[in-house]
Amino acid sequence: MKITRIEAYPVNMPLEIPFATSLGVLPSQKEHVIVAVETDEGIRGFGEAAPDPIYHGESQETILQAIRKYFAPSLIGADPFDFEIILEKENRSIVGNPYACAAIDLALYDIIGKKTGLPACKLLGGQIRDKIPVVFVLSLADQLEDIASEAQNCVRKGYKTLKIKVGVDPSLDLERVRVVREAVGNSADIRVDANQGWTPDMAIKLIKKMEKYDLQLVEQPVPGWDLEGMARVTKAVETPVMADESMFSPQMALRLVKMEAADIINIKIMKPGGLYNSKKVAMIAETADIPCVVGSMLETGIGTAAGAHFASANRIVKYPCEMIGPAYFKTDIIKEDIKPKDGFVSVPLKPGLGVTPDFDVIRKLAAT
Ligand code: MG
Repeated sequence: MKITRIEAYPVNMPLEIPFATSLGVLPSQKEHVIVAVETDEGIRGFGEAAPDPIYHGESQETILQAIRKYFAPSLIGADPFDFEIILEKENRSIVGNPYACAAIDLALYDIIGKKTGLPACKLLGGQIRDKIPVVFVLSLADQLEDIASEAQNCVRKGYKTLKIKVGVDPSLDLERVRVVREAVGNSADIRVDANQGWTPDMAIKLIKKMEKYDLQLVEQPVPGWDLEGMARVTKAVETPVMADESMFSPQMALRLVKMEAADIINIKIMKPGGLYNSKKVAMIAETADIPCVVGSMLETGIGTAAGAHFASANRIVKYPCEMIGPAYFKTDIIKEDIKPKDGFVSVPLKPGLGVTPDFDVIRKLAAT
């Protein structure tokens, strides 16, 4: 089988819920890229890049450019099964750009699944579970008085884990955790994500104060580059520390292991360049006995399905995951409904990623 054509479609996804982290506030719509890869056997696969420029640096514009100008010409004629060759071709046309690579990678899994009649999870290690527990992420945009009622709402909807965005003002961070714990009692686990907002000293002091509210985990307390700081915090507190912005590649995962700089790894399938490289990260984590979370870049239904397949196929994914993008958007771009129900996302077990892009919606949401 050979790749004959690659198309990239920019879509702007209107957000239903405003979203903010310590890195800043997301605009009212998120700018994604949907990719269609065609083959000489008439099989088409679909992928997605879900960038957040303030989180990683790629944007809708850079992804379109990487795919249209660099990847597409170099990948025509390649066999969709040849992941290593395709990654090398991408790297030799323009280095980096993992989110753009991820869009192609997802489409390849979709093609291979359709060709073999297998859902993507079967290509990633096999189907261990058919539904994935998910965590609802409470936005930093919420006022203190609103966050309690939002947390209670989430528990009523069936979420058993809530993630609180923190990392701006230590006393307010502590208050947010207290308010949510008092609102939900013991009916939900609580994790916090500082998105690199603290120094190691601040983090150690503050996490110790938060521990009386029984945190499930604390995510990325210090800057992503500061692995020494991550290691210090990891050693100093009882709560497990999860690396997110400190892990963008299998190489970074190995560094985290060697430096004992995290207890848990957050694998977002976009970060290492798609499912294939995410599997390498999961294998490093599993070998080091470091449990994982499958995180989210607020993907549409396509990326959410891919994340669900990945979480289904990896035993080392031991904590509730974040495949909640479709719950945040006003509308999705797939024909199926992959929003969480009763706190779980169901793995779409049709061949490939198991979802069908709706091109009427994609045309409506097209960026101009
Ligand atoms: Mg995070």
